[in-house]
Amino acid sequence: MHIINRHPDYYTTSSCSGRVAVYCEGLEKDVDVNDPDAIEKTTKGGTWLYVSHDPIAMPKDNLDAWIVQLLFGSQSDKVVFSDKRPDDILSRQLIYFKFEPLILHIEASTSETAMQLLGTAYQVGYQNSGITPSRRHMLAIRSTHKIDTPIAYVEGDKIYCLVDPAYLTLLLTMSNQKFESNMARMKVFEDAMTRLLCKANEAQNWEPKEVRRQRMKQEGLAKREQQRQQEQRDLVVIEDLMAAAPETPTFKLVLVGDGGTGKTTFVKRHLSGEFEKRYVATLGVEVHPLQFTTNFGHIIFNTWDTAGQEKFGGLRDGYYINGQCAIIMFDVTSRITYKNVPNWHRDLVRVCEGIPIVLCGNKVDVKDRKVKAKTITFHRKKNLQYYDISAKSNYNFEKPFLWLARKLIGNPQLEFVAAPALAPAEVQIDQQLMAQYNTEMEVAAAQPLPEEDDDL
Ligand code: GDP
Ligand code: MG
Repeated sequence: MHIINRHPDYYTTSSCSGRVAVYCEGLEKDVDVNDPDAIEKTTKGGTWLYVSHDPIAMPKDNLDAWIVQLLFGSQSDKVVFSDKRPDDILSRQLIYFKFEPLILHIEASTSETAMQLLGTAYQVGYQNSGITPSRRHMLAIRSTHKIDTPIAYVEGDKIYCLVDPAYLTLLLTMSNQKFESNMARMKVFEDAMTRLLCKANEAQNWEPKEVRRQRMKQEGLAKREQQRQQEQRDLVVIEDLMAAAPETPTFKLVLVGDGGTGKTTFVKRHLSGEFEKRYVATLGVEVHPLQFTTNFGHIIFNTWDTAGQEKFGGLRDGYYINGQCAIIMFDVTSRITYKNVPNWHRDLVRVCEGIPIVLCGNKVDVKDRKVKAKTITFHRKKNLQYYDISAKSNYNFEKPFLWLARKLIGNPQLEFVAAPALAPAEVQIDQQLMAQYNTEMEVAAAQPLPEEDDDL
């Protein structure tokens, strides 16, 4: 009842959770109960000889006397068990044994909500439920689990029992069982009503369209402002990196390639860069300032590395914007990462036209190499430089930077004159194998380019 009454669409107008009762029909006033012809029954004025809303524990001994005492109460000394069956029993004042399961009368807000509740009631087994046709949307929830049977009639000052005490005990035992199934069904109904109530509460929490629109707008504006402020802070981070050594030529290097090719591993090899890296929150990017010492002085590559966004598609334009040079990385142990190189190249040059780009085939330390020298031709078509590298062994780590530095400074005589501090090699490289790869690369470079142009 509490759950129903908490629901905005329903309230209970009357209820009974279930009961067992003995009821004596009412008679019109002043009738002679001894004259069956004079008896006039009335629905009002009956008397309840016994009512219980709970199951009844039964004693082991003296059951017959106990049941009579229980059901007829103060009238029990008038009870007579006899075979006397007058022809006009139906017109006599009858006494009924009743078990009444849950009955609820509920008023609903609309005929729709009344129908909805009726549907729920049917579903959980209240097959006797129904809607009263009226302007108020009244419905009664009832189950068919009832007992309503005559057990005695009144004659004079006696109550003639139509059944024996054992039968009365049977009725009570059945009622006790029905109390249990009644409770179980009520629990199911309660759960169903709780769910309905939750749904209704959710629906109530729905804002009117206009309020929602205004709120969304406010939230959108606040979010955009937050984003703007973050972008501002990120800009400061980037400018800060660029201005770290104003006398040092500093370039934005964009690092791209499929996820897992070793970009992050590669960029972290450079220890001071790893130590001084900054995080650009709006793009989810780490910028590593990688410094090298050349015969013309220092040079810094602010190398941009993603936090893994490339695994879920392309990168935001903000990642490429103002890129001054780039490394496209693939993994020589994974053909698909080489196949995707043209896509990375296309995305890159769409934003950064004409910048120097190095293509790197990483993980050449792995014995079972899949992308062989003769298949690596993309760089030749696009005028990129190519290097085999192995981030884990530092093999050729400086090569891409040296080539880019020469392009950016515009001097092919530029050399690195001091080695940057690198993380110690994690794997050893087979120098002989590397020499063989180099030869293969030179042989491949001398071959004409394959006809098909499947990258664009
Ligand atoms: P990213 O997604 O491109 O940044 O790639 P990660 O740097 O996260 O590297 C992906 C995996 O490749 C990791 O398990 C690395 O340990 C491994 N890896 C990276 N570089 C090398 C390498 O030179 N050799 C080998 N054998 N494994 C590498
Ligand atoms: Mg990474």
